Amino acid sequence: MLGADGEMYESSLRGRLKQGVVKLAVGDDVEVDPGEAGQAPTIATIHPRRSKLARRAPGSGYGERIVAANVDQVVIVFALVKPTPHPRMLDRFLVIAEANGLAARIVVNKVDLADEAAAQALFADYARIGYPLHLTSAKERRGLDALHEALQGRVSALSGPSGVGKSSLLNALYPGLGLRVGEISESVNKGRHTTVGALLHPLPDGGFVADTPGLREIGMWGLDPSRLAECFPEFRPLTALCRFADCTHTVEPGCEVRDALGRGEVSAARHDSYVKLREELEEASRLW
Ligand code: GDP
Ligand code: ZN
Repeated sequence: MLGADGEMYESSLRGRLKQGVVKLAVGDDVEVDPGEAGQAPTIATIHPRRSKLARRAPGSGYGERIVAANVDQVVIVFALVKPTPHPRMLDRFLVIAEANGLAARIVVNKVDLADEAAAQALFADYARIGYPLHLTSAKERRGLDALHEALQGRVSALSGPSGVGKSSLLNALYPGLGLRVGEISESVNKGRHTTVGALLHPLPDGGFVADTPGLREIGMWGLDPSRLAECFPEFRPLTALCRFADCTHTVEPGCEVRDALGRGEVSAARHDSYVKLREELEEASRLW
């Protein structure tokens, strides 16, 4: 447990909380009883959560597992090259953020390895629909100031494929953090997905970075297929205008989303992701 004084303390849960409905999660704000001298403090109260990154769609109730509480934003890191970015995987991360009601921003690292204008073009769709885009090089220390500002004072869930430079970026931003290069991805390989928990790294100038390697495994589990379109911000102003109230935006006539696609106002790659993710969700809901 991290004290208000910035020190780490060992603590235990008060008995009542051990059996409670609300289970303590990484990122929770708590109140403690200091306890007797020489004894570890006891966590007595868990404050209501501002937000959460959950393993089930929020509100689905029973069986929900919280990966991290009080997350302000999801920061999704890809590399411009090495490894090649997969837009479909990016869309999946964005849907997870949206389904949890969390803001998301995109970091494209390793811009030193290719043309920065190419990066801008490759990710232009995302900037256009409103996701803040950071082009960075941990190696050449490019784009770090804006990213630093975006992380300061906030709780950020950091995710992205391994090898894209997440640890390198954190080390470049916060030399004192002392993360080993490869450390963030290593924890994935150790199979921590059995716990789906995140690790919170306090930032020296306020805020936290939650290392959430399990984000991909969390997936969109439990998201109702009919809610997927809400997770595509550029679809939101259109869906209410579709001819059919239960339009799936895949094949129907009179679909505003598909009309916008035809006019080039909705990106074909994004719509394609939507169709693929929808098939996946429908398949999953059949299995349940
Ligand atoms: P993580 O798995 O996402 O934490 O990635 P790491 O930080 O471990 O970096 C993976 C590899 O990419 C390492 O060999 C880094 O040195 C390299 N790397 C990280 N950032 C950059 C960058 O901005 N440019 C270049 N050229 N290489 C980088
Ligand atoms: Zn439609």
